[in-house]
Amino acid sequence: MGNQQFGKILKVDLRKRSFHEIGIDKNVVQKYLGGPGFAIEYLMESKVFEYDPLSEHNPLIFMTGLLTGTSFPCSGFYSVSGRSPLTNIYGEGLSGGFFGAELRKTINGIIIEDKADSPVYLKIEDDHYELIDASDIWGLKTDKTMQNLRSKLGKQYKITTIGPSGEKMVPLASIINDHFRAVGRTGMGAIMGSKNLKAIAVKSSKKINYHDEKKFNEISKAIFLLFKNSAMADVLRNFGTNNIDYFERLADVPHKNWTLHKWKGVNDISGSIVLEKLHVRNRPCYLCPFSCGREIEIKEGPYKISNAACSEYETTAAFGSMCLISDVEAIAYLNHICNTMGVDTISAGCTIAFAMDCYEKGILTQDELGFPLDWGDADAAIKLLNLMCKNEGIGKILGKGSKRASEQIGKGSREFLTTIKGLEAPMHDPRAIYPLGLQYATSNRGACHLRGFANDLYSGFTGFNDALKISKEKSIRERTIDNPEFARDVAISQNLSEINNALGICRQTISSGSQIVENLFNLILDEIYYLTEIRISLAELMKIGERIFNLKRIFNNKCGVSRKDDILPPRLKFSLEKGRLKDKFLTIDLMLEEYYKFRGWNKEGVPSKQKLADLKIDHYS
Ligand code: SF4
Repeated sequence: MGNQQFGKILKVDLRKRSFHEIGIDKNVVQKYLGGPGFAIEYLMESKVFEYDPLSEHNPLIFMTGLLTGTSFPCSGFYSVSGRSPLTNIYGEGLSGGFFGAELRKTINGIIIEDKADSPVYLKIEDDHYELIDASDIWGLKTDKTMQNLRSKLGKQYKITTIGPSGEKMVPLASIINDHFRAVGRTGMGAIMGSKNLKAIAVKSSKKINYHDEKKFNEISKAIFLLFKNSAMADVLRNFGTNNIDYFERLADVPHKNWTLHKWKGVNDISGSIVLEKLHVRNRPCYLCPFSCGREIEIKEGPYKISNAACSEYETTAAFGSMCLISDVEAIAYLNHICNTMGVDTISAGCTIAFAMDCYEKGILTQDELGFPLDWGDADAAIKLLNLMCKNEGIGKILGKGSKRASEQIGKGSREFLTTIKGLEAPMHDPRAIYPLGLQYATSNRGACHLRGFANDLYSGFTGFNDALKISKEKSIRERTIDNPEFARDVAISQNLSEINNALGICRQTISSGSQIVENLFNLILDEIYYLTEIRISLAELMKIGERIFNLKRIFNNKCGVSRKDDILPPRLKFSLEKGRLKDKFLTIDLMLEEYYKFRGWNKEGVPSKQKLADLKIDHYS
């Protein structure tokens, strides 16, 4: 088995317009599997923590995971990493769809270096790479860019692109592929814009090399059928992830910028309402039997849209319950603006909620905004979102995200922030799910529900508990807020999340999949063997996850992150006056102390030399 077995990474220097292939050797696969693990090692090697995120020294790294594009279910995922222009620390986003699977057939990843003199797009067809003038598509929205490139190149090309917001280097900018699948969060689209790279189009006639394709496919097919026939697949196919009415019953949904305990509007924007009023058809990612992705349309009225993507739960809550907008069509329209302009929906919705809070308190005025911005005013939210996406008017400040906007606005507005390490917190309330507070506070890309499985553990989605020896002592639901076991469980679930992403498979494969398929982890280990001929144990697999997590932490330490940053903002801690969150003041101090101990970090949140040596990354300390 030569290097060919493990693939190659394409390095593109945009200024020199040169291409260089780097072979991936077995050791690197054993160390990181694929995906963000490769990326963070490259960012560390290049000392990117010393450079401005929008400078030519910040590479943008597209990586597929080890299983991406194979016959394994839901394996269409790729990651994009760099130093974040939103948070100034490690930045990363993952996306499904078909682009990653097509890329993996040709190359495992792309490192984009430096900056082009004028707009270009990268065309990849098997081993042929080309940078092509993009001046005629610069300025186009994401859907129009894809239409344009497909009409020029052919429908077989899979495309990932930035919209106008990425071109303008708006720090909330995302990267969009296929049917509005998004590399959201942390502003990777702004880095792409800073490099004058509009899009990447890929087509491949190649096949992935397997050590034993027949055995690999047998396992994949069995898992696919179990997933397809599960009750969870029924829920996801019908409602997507938008179970806001169910989450409301768990006191898990934030309202009015995290200040209200309850809001009737959730019943008007739930997945069942979307299914009844807007649904057109399911739009699954590559080899996905769950199909949470759906196409919607609004046939008439002010929010008329077609061929649009359905809002998932996070987006629905960010624009809906956070801004008190109870019009399901307006939320779909706001989501469509984000997708076509190329902006992250969670950060955009939360920043608008922050601005509504500031407006209510007289900190932002009608004169400054150009219009009134009352809670629940969907048309005002649309106006503001457009300004943020276009980097115009007050959008020049708010498009930087709520934390940096607050630094500019001042007047005590920081009290209304919901950010951790500069990233707006997602839409699950840690006052209802205690360990989620610890997960948010310690997540490497800032507050994140997707970098760990704390909410799944607490909700009873615990298919992986036995395999990972989580929750042995006492049921997680019975524990009080000061229980030190949370620390251990959160850390393990964060490491598992790194494995999930390094494999390039959808999160549902682990969270829902581990409930459906009893021995899922053993089957994944078998799949790794049948693909690569590398046999690893579950303990070794989890160590890979721990290694990736710690490497990202060291990168962040070098960006200035320490214990002072592993905190919750006031809005996520304070108890509410009424309801299930009454008297629930969330403190994570004890959990954090235990967490540092379990991780082998010192009191400042820096991994110890011994821990790094144990993980074989001590040369980065
Ligand atoms: S569950 Fe949803 S996000 Fe995951 S692979 Fe399927 S369609 Fe894509």
